[in-house]
Parts: sequence; structure tokens; C-alpha cells
Amino acid sequence: MKPVAPRINEFQDSIFGVISRLARENGAVNLGQGFPDFDGPEFLKKIAGQKIHEGHNQYAPFHGTQNLREEISSYYQRFYQLKYDPDAEVSVTVGATEAIFVTMMAMIGPGDEVIVLEPFYDSYIASIKMAGGVVVPVTMHAPMFSVNMAELKRAITPKTKMIIVNNPHNPTGKVWLKEELQEVADLALANDLYVMSDEVYEFLVFDGARHIPTATLNDMKERTITISSAGKTFGLTGWKIGWICANKEVSRAVRLVHQYVTFAVSTPIQEAVAEGLKSLETYIPEFQATYKAKRDFFYEEMIKLGFNFPKPLGTYFMMVPIKDKTELNDVDFAMKLIKDYRVATVPPSAFYLKSTEGAGYLRFCFAKKEETLNEAVKNLQGL
Ligand code: PMP
Ligand code: GLN
Repeated sequence: MKPVAPRINEFQDSIFGVISRLARENGAVNLGQGFPDFDGPEFLKKIAGQKIHEGHNQYAPFHGTQNLREEISSYYQRFYQLKYDPDAEVSVTVGATEAIFVTMMAMIGPGDEVIVLEPFYDSYIASIKMAGGVVVPVTMHAPMFSVNMAELKRAITPKTKMIIVNNPHNPTGKVWLKEELQEVADLALANDLYVMSDEVYEFLVFDGARHIPTATLNDMKERTITISSAGKTFGLTGWKIGWICANKEVSRAVRLVHQYVTFAVSTPIQEAVAEGLKSLETYIPEFQATYKAKRDFFYEEMIKLGFNFPKPLGTYFMMVPIKDKTELNDVDFAMKLIKDYRVATVPPSAFYLKSTEGAGYLRFCFAKKEETLNEAVKNLQGL
């Protein structure tokens, strides 16, 4: 038989799938893959059922239902004073994952360089490569995971087309400060670069930290491609509704790709998410309080266990330094925790191409039921 396409030769099973499988095989509590092990809001599940019964069951318009695009546009206006034309500048995708992929296919050609800040979300790399682009990693250095601007500047060449920013940041839990974002924006403006801003955790910020969309910085709206996801905002990762807000030309390009990747996205679920977005003002404070309680509980337990690190201000992840606890690297220590302590985590070296800093950390996901977190803490006693 002739071989499969060489483009996939360097791809492997994603670390999330691998860890979830090992967790199942070893009966470990899974604090690895990032998803809540509890259900999303009751009111929204009810609405989704209604939408199916009301007959919203045939293909949606390929770029998203009118209601959903209008509600997305409305919340960017209400929360961030950003104006996106729902007809021409908002496109609905199968989760942020598809949004990332079609953005790369639409914007990046062979040889184009894309600066990726590491630790990164793994699908950026695969999507850039499938588009024929070149990944240029720049490290967000531990322990504060800040970008060294001189390093970022040095990474820019005449072939650079885009910088990817993820804010709030998976896996570190960092919420970018305005000054930090401004430095990246200044470079984008000076070098005529696009910024793909992955903001799927936009509402998961704690302790008064403020999420600042990249597109709100001066002169950045036109060159920012903003991506978000209902899966995170409503804690319903299986619904797989994401979106892209971008200028008309970029939106036209991503839609052209999207129509040949998935064409359209689940109609009743889009209609349900549209209803959910209408209630953001009442829903978000509750959502944040739920996750803050989990973060506080788990953080305190990790400190009691002898880990030492600053409290993360966003997302549902913690990057926990392991150097005080072990000589092992992250992969070996993660395996030891799964096998000997029955707790699964993600070894973050999978999120780095350049630096070895990830080897000194493990990523824990605290989007879990109280009993799950309790069981994990119990299993970790004696570490
Ligand atoms: N970006 C980041 C930073 C993520 O953590 C995730 C998912 N976990 C995604 C994108 C993908 O989101 P979705 O599930 O909507 O495809
Ligand atoms: N984004 C989730 C994480 O970071 C996982 C998503 C996936 O499994 N692809 O864990």
C-alpha cells in the first residue's frame, strides 16, 4: 500500500488523549485533560432540548446562525466596547480548535513564520504545520511566565506574519497585564503582523484580574483575530461551539476554509448558546465564584503538600513546580503520580519546543467536582 501523506508524519497522539487513557488504565483521578467533570448550567441544557424540539435541526447557515452571530457581536460590545458586524466579521466554528485550524489555513502559506509563545496550546503547532507555515517558538519564562521582549523582537523576520497570544493562558493560568499586551501590540503594529488572540478562558479570571482582549488595544482591532469558545464559558466542552471575530477580509478567508472543513455547525446547539450569551451578566459572577472556590481549595492543598508557587489568576489550570519534590523530569514524575499515587496530570514539556523549563513543572486541572479534588488530594498525601 502507498504510504499516508507525509504531512502527518511528525504528528503524534495529543498529550491530552494519552494522559486520559493512562488515567483510565491506572484508575487514576484525572486532573490532566482540561474539562469539567461536572455538568454545565441547567437552564442552558433545558434550552438546548427545547431548540431540538422546536425543530432547529437542519443545516445552519455555514458561517453560523443569525441569532448566535448577533449575540456574539452583542457581548463583545457590552463587555469590551468592541464592534463586530455579525454578518461580515463573526464566524462560528466547531469549537476554538476548528477556529485555530481554519485561521491558519486561511492566513498562513508555505514559509510564512508564526511566532508561538511557549508553553503553547498544542493545536497551534499542528495547524501552522498543516498550513505549511514555520513555527517560531519564543519562551514565556518561568516562574512568572513573562515574555522577554528582546527575545520576541529577535524572533521577528521579514517572513513573520503572525504572533499567537493566548490570554488567559493555558497552561500557566497567567492573565496578561495591559502593559504586556501593549508591548506585543507595538511589535505587531511596527512589523505589520496579525495577532491571533486565543481568549477561550476570557471569563475565567479571579481576584479582580481583568481580561483585556487584544483587539481593544489602540489600532489593534483590524489586525487581531479573536477566538473564543462556548465550551469554556459555559463549562460544556462537548458542545464544541467556537467563533472567530476578525475584519471583513480575514473573516471572508476563514469562512472559505470553514465551508470545506465542516461547512456548518450544530444548529440547535448554536441556538442554545445564543440564549446563553444573553444571560452572561447574571451567569458569569456565579461561574467565576464556582471556579474560584475550586482554585482556592486546590491551591491551598497544594501549598500544604509542600509545593510552592504563586496563585494563578485565570483559567482552570495550575503550573506546579516539581523541582523541590523530585529529581525526575515532568514526564517521569507524571507517570509516577499516575502509577503510584493515582493522580493524572499533564507533563508540560509537551507544550514547549525550545526551552526545557517545562520539565520542572506539572499542569493540574482543577475544573473538577469537590469529591474529585478531595480524592486527588488524599491520593497525593505522603508525596
Ligand atoms: N485554546 C485553548 C487555549 C484551549 O485550552 C482549548 C481547549 N481546551 C482550545 C483552544 C480548544 O477549545 P475547543 O474545545 O472549543 O475546541
Ligand atoms: N484544551 C484542553 C486542555 O488543555 C484539552 C482539549 C483536548 O483534549 N484537545 O487540556
